[in-house]
Amino acid sequence: MSKTIKEINRKILDGTVRVVTAAEMPAIVEELGAERAAAEIDVVTTGTFGAMCSSGVWLNFGHSEPPMKMTRVWLNDVEAYAGVAAVDAYLGVTQASETLGMEYAGAHVIEDLLLGRPVVLRAVSRGSECYPRKAILTEITLAGLNQAIMSNPRNAYQRYNAAANSGDGVLQTYMGKLLPGCGNVTFSGAGEMSPLMNDPDLETIGIGTRIFLGGGIGTITGSGTQHNPGAQFATLMVQGDLKQMSAEFLRAALFHGYGSSLYVGIGIPIPVLHAGIAQKTAIRDRDIETDIIDYAVPSRQRPVVGRCNYEQLKSGSVLLQRRRVPASPLASFRMAGRIAAALKRWIQRGEFFLSVPAAALPSRGSSAPLAIKPPQQRLKLFYRRPAEILPRPAGLRITWDAERCFSCGQCLGICRAGVFAKDGEWRVTADTGRCRGCGLCVQLCPAGAIAGEKNGR
Ligand code: SF4
Ligand code: SF4
Repeated sequence: MSKTIKEINRKILDGTVRVVTAAEMPAIVEELGAERAAAEIDVVTTGTFGAMCSSGVWLNFGHSEPPMKMTRVWLNDVEAYAGVAAVDAYLGVTQASETLGMEYAGAHVIEDLLLGRPVVLRAVSRGSECYPRKAILTEITLAGLNQAIMSNPRNAYQRYNAAANSGDGVLQTYMGKLLPGCGNVTFSGAGEMSPLMNDPDLETIGIGTRIFLGGGIGTITGSGTQHNPGAQFATLMVQGDLKQMSAEFLRAALFHGYGSSLYVGIGIPIPVLHAGIAQKTAIRDRDIETDIIDYAVPSRQRPVVGRCNYEQLKSGSVLLQRRRVPASPLASFRMAGRIAAALKRWIQRGEFFLSVPAAALPSRGSSAPLAIKPPQQRLKLFYRRPAEILPRPAGLRITWDAERCFSCGQCLGICRAGVFAKDGEWRVTADTGRCRGCGLCVQLCPAGAIAGEKNGR
C-alpha cells in the first residue's frame, strides 16, 4: 500500500491525518509491522536542537536619507558581511564582537533582535554620487527591518562523531569541555529523533521541503556544505523568516575557549508514503553508531579511539577501551522532543502542510574531509582513575539558573558529585547543595546557566 503527499495534505485539510513523533514510531512499527504502520500513520515528525555554527541572517536595513551604500557594517560591534548591495548584510552567528570578544557574537545579536531589544547599527561607506552618505550610527529592531532572513549553509547533521581527550590537560572545544585522560565523552546529534536519520536515503526530504525552523516555518534550499550522505553525514541548507521565529528555539551559546554559536531548532515531517519509509522511521538509538574521536590530536585526521551507539551514549556512560567513561550530550533531547511535538500539533491543527520537493538532494557527497575516515589508533593510554583527574577543591560555590538552562545535558557527564540530574524527558535539574566545589563545571555551560564564585573556604 502506498499514498502520496497530496493525499496526506487532503487528510490534513479534513482533519483525519494521523501524526506521531519519531520517538513514538518505533513501538508502533514493532507492534503492527511496517505494512500496517504505513497504513495507520501518515506523518512522523522529527526534531533536533543543537549548536549549529554554520548559521546566520541576511538583514535589509532600508535606505537612509541621504542614501548610502554600506561597505562595512557592525551590529552591537559585531561585524556583518556587507559585500553585496547597498543596505544588505549577512550576520554570521560565530562572528565575535570587536569590543566584547567571543562572549558576544552574531548569535547574541540575533537573540537580542528576537527578544525585541534595540541593536546599534554602525556603518561606513566610501560615498558615491548616487549614494553620498559616508557613515551612519543608529538603532534597529527586528520589527523595523525590511527583511531578516535566516539563511544557514550547514545545519541538521544526520549524525556526528563523539569526542574524547587522551591528553594531559582539559580541552575546551566546540564539542564542550573534554577532561584529560579520556575522563569523559561528549556527543552531538539527536539520535533517533534526528530528521535525516529518519529518512537516511533522502527519499522524502529534498529541495523545497517545508520544515520547522527556529519556531517558524522554513524551507530546505539545498544540501548543506560538507554534505556526505554516503557516510551518514548528510547536511541541509535552510532558510526562513527570522520575524516568524522565537528566542525559545534559537538560543545563543558560548563554548568557552572556542567561541559562540547558535542552538537552532529544526523539525522535519516525514510523510509515510509506504512500508519502506515506515520501517526507516522506526530507527532506534541503538541502530545509530558513531566513532569516538580523540580531540587531543590537533589534526584534521583525528584518530578514532572507540565506537558506540546512541543508546549507549544516552545511557550516561560508555565503555572506552575497557573503562566506563561518563558521556553527555551537547544537543538538547528535551528541546528536540518539544520541536517534534510542536510540528505534530501544527499538522494536526491544519496549520502546516507537507510539500513535494522541487528536486532531490544529492545522494553523493562532494566534500572530501568527512568522507575520509580517520585511521584507527591503538592507544597505550593515558588513562587515569577519575579521582586523579578531579582538581582539588577550589573553594567554589556554584549557582544554577533554571531559566537559562536549555537541558543540553553537558553538565551531566562532568560533575562527579551528582549535582546535576535529568528526568525521563531529559529536563535537567541541579541540587547545588551537593556541590564539592571542584570547579570542573565552571566555563562549561553554553547557555551561561552555571556560575561559580569563591566562597572563601
Ligand atoms: S545547566 Fe547548562 S550545561 Fe547543564 S544542561 Fe543546562 S544548559 Fe546544558
Ligand atoms: S563545581 Fe560543584 S557542581 Fe561543578 S562539577 Fe564540581 S562538584 Fe559538580
